[in-house]
Amino acid sequence: MFATEFEYQRATSVSEAIQLLSNNPGAKILAGGHSLLPMMKLRLTSIPMLIDIGGINELRGISVENNILRIGALTTHAEIAESYDVKDNAGILWETAYGIGDPQVRNRGTIGGNISHADPASDLPTVLKVMDAKFTIQGTGGLMRGGSRVVSADDFFIGPFETDLGENEILTAIEMPVLMANQHAEYAKMAHPATSFAVVGAGVVLTVEDDVCTAARVAVGGFTPVPTRGLTVEQALIGKVLNEENIASATILIHGDLGSDVFGDVFASAEYRQAMAAIELKHAIFHATGLAHHN
Ligand SMILES: Cc1cc2nc3c(=O)[nH]c(=O)nc-3n(C[C@H](O)[C@H](O)[C@H](O)COP(=O)(O)OP(=O)(O)OC[C@H]3O[C@@H](n4cnc5c(N)ncnc54)[C@H](O)[C@@H]3O)c2cc1C
Repeated sequence: MFATEFEYQRATSVSEAIQLLSNNPGAKILAGGHSLLPMMKLRLTSIPMLIDIGGINELRGISVENNILRIGALTTHAEIAESYDVKDNAGILWETAYGIGDPQVRNRGTIGGNISHADPASDLPTVLKVMDAKFTIQGTGGLMRGGSRVVSADDFFIGPFETDLGENEILTAIEMPVLMANQHAEYAKMAHPATSFAVVGAGVVLTVEDDVCTAARVAVGGFTPVPTRGLTVEQALIGKVLNEENIASATILIHGDLGSDVFGDVFASAEYRQAMAAIELKHAIFHATGLAHHN
């Protein structure tokens, strides 16, 4: 099927893209096009104008400064999966990027597009939540005229395909603290065999001092409207030695964190995904702590 007719504009700077957005109600940003174009071709959405930001170099790139990893919104999944800056400082993100879709999707899809699209089945929202990432957003509106604002991953995702991004705003960069030597992080997913999208995904970042867990960020996604923090699981892990018994009794508590809005479909029911959440979480912690290699 073909998309309905639309106009196309190529922006050469972030400010030009924002101007085009504000002058053309209903217009949408085009990044890698791997989420937006299929939706247009399936006529799930009809967009009057696409504003292509693919040529804006200021939106690309990966850097590390003052223990903060910064990734431009237009950086592709493949660039993240090939970056030693990401591998050395945020291994969880590096591995996750490599597990997204297939080579075509990784070569075209961008981190900014993935987050802005906010598909509940995406991997990056869950990972960026446990990494305590912050998103820089640029726009023209109201008090923020001409300026930028920063939103945490915890606050950015509002619902399925719904974020804190305003109509005339662009996500420009993603920043996160680099992982320290005593922090262990992992993302485990039960992937859909056709697309690699998360049927159930689980991310963890654990801080360990003298064998005891002193801080934890835990989230699951793929089957809830937005990635869900496992606050009860986090509390159960803190102060404990991360052995098999303590991990098993903490991860089972994720059921209480999930709430009633859990998705299922013909591939995997809501009940099945709920049951798999504790298993994927345990899997992630076993790998993060090295237990998986001994048992
Ligand atoms: C076959 C297939 C398999 C996939 N498998 C996976 C998977 O395993 N895991 C996974 O996480 N994802 C998966 N994806 C999704 C993939 O990662 C998408 O490419 C990505 O989510 C969207 O990025 P994009 O750059 O293509 O965005 P686009 O399609 O260009 O845009 C998506 C949406 O975000 C908006 N947008 C884009 N960039 C910005 C910006 N900088 N600021 C504001 N708004 C913006 C657009 O207006 C649009 O609404 C898959 C996709 C396909 C087609």
